Amino acid sequence: MNIHEYQAKELLAKHGLPVPRGIAALSVEEAVEAARQLPGPLYVVKSQIHAGGRGKGRFKELGPDAKGGVRLARSIEEVESHAREMLGNTLVTVQTGDEGKQVNRLYVTDGVDIGKEYYLSMLVDRASGRVAMIASTEGGMSIEDVAHETPEKIVTITIDPAQGFMPHHGRALAYGLKLDGDLAKQAQKLGRQLYDAFHALDCEMIEINPLAESNGTLMVLDTKMSFDGNALFRHPELADLRDVTEEDPAEVEASEHDLAYIKLDGNIGCMVNGAGLAMATMDIIKLNGAFPANFLDVGGGASREKVTAAFKIILKDPAVEGILVNIFGGIMKCDVIADGIVAAAKDVNLSVPLVVRLEGTNVEQGKAILDNSGLAIVSADDLGDAARKIVAEVRKAA
Ligand code: ADP
Ligand code: MG
Repeated sequence: MNIHEYQAKELLAKHGLPVPRGIAALSVEEAVEAARQLPGPLYVVKSQIHAGGRGKGRFKELGPDAKGGVRLARSIEEVESHAREMLGNTLVTVQTGDEGKQVNRLYVTDGVDIGKEYYLSMLVDRASGRVAMIASTEGGMSIEDVAHETPEKIVTITIDPAQGFMPHHGRALAYGLKLDGDLAKQAQKLGRQLYDAFHALDCEMIEINPLAESNGTLMVLDTKMSFDGNALFRHPELADLRDVTEEDPAEVEASEHDLAYIKLDGNIGCMVNGAGLAMATMDIIKLNGAFPANFLDVGGGASREKVTAAFKIILKDPAVEGILVNIFGGIMKCDVIADGIVAAAKDVNLSVPLVVRLEGTNVEQGKAILDNSGLAIVSADDLGDAARKIVAEVRKAA
């Protein structure tokens, strides 16, 4: 789960990290009010979307000369005009894709006089099975570019979870950022605070870019934070931070029905029970020269309601030209599943070819239900047969 910059900064501030003052705003009026509460005279108005590169981003609705999604303002009037230009408009950045993201929230924050920009992040490094801290003297720009052009300017510090963040990690961080004296001390403290926040919140990633030096003080000017979804149950306090308008609506709907759905780029919708079978189904579709439109695991208890919801979600994707249902009736019986499929197909007025492969308990009864449904359901015998049939059906229909 991802959250907005302002939310992440509030969490980091709670863990003691130095963050400039700022207030979130949902309207132009709120943005003006926020600026009034800040000391000024320098403000920064920041679009809140779940994507980086906002500063260099462009608004679709504004001309190419308009400013980006992070803007300095020298007066409250300027805050107001920036807020007016940003709210409701679509920000396109290197991370949003061409379609961009609509800006519905702003963050009005203190403008900071930046001396130098650094990069600092933490993430779970799967290769070492540890948490890694990544730091660079080249802040403010994309770390991918730094990694590509000057990889020697990136330092990685891995932290043994049994030890936690030790003083030598802090020194390595300060050294990596080429800081000495008081700034080095600040970096050491900040590294520990960041590690503690990362650990306490079960984060997947925290990125601070830039970490800025301003008049002798290090400050978090921008941050991105994401949480390990499997640990969210431990953090009911984080649930409110979710902004579903930032997520794929189909994926949100699927999670409401307890379906594991991920949209992909192909044209063959898949409805499968079990993640392993779902992966195998996607592979075999590819083997037959087509591409899956989604990953969808209806889980063990595929009730009629769940199957119907799954059909609807798959069909909302305009790229879907055919559906392959591949269900193993283990806990569920095939006849119950077949009933669900037929009812759901009628319910949604299915207009694309549907191939169903059932296997397991009561498979014969299940196939009979499909055959006698009066619907144009093609039944398949095994996985390979099913994939060949759906690819052929889609080609025929095209
Ligand atoms: P993004 O990474 O999405 O472009 P940032 O928050 O990093 O957004 O903002 C882009 C740039 O704007 C930063 O690299 C920094 O130079 C400047 N900036 C951001 N916040 C402030 C601030 N509070 N005061 C001064 N400059 C800022
Ligand atoms: Mg940034």
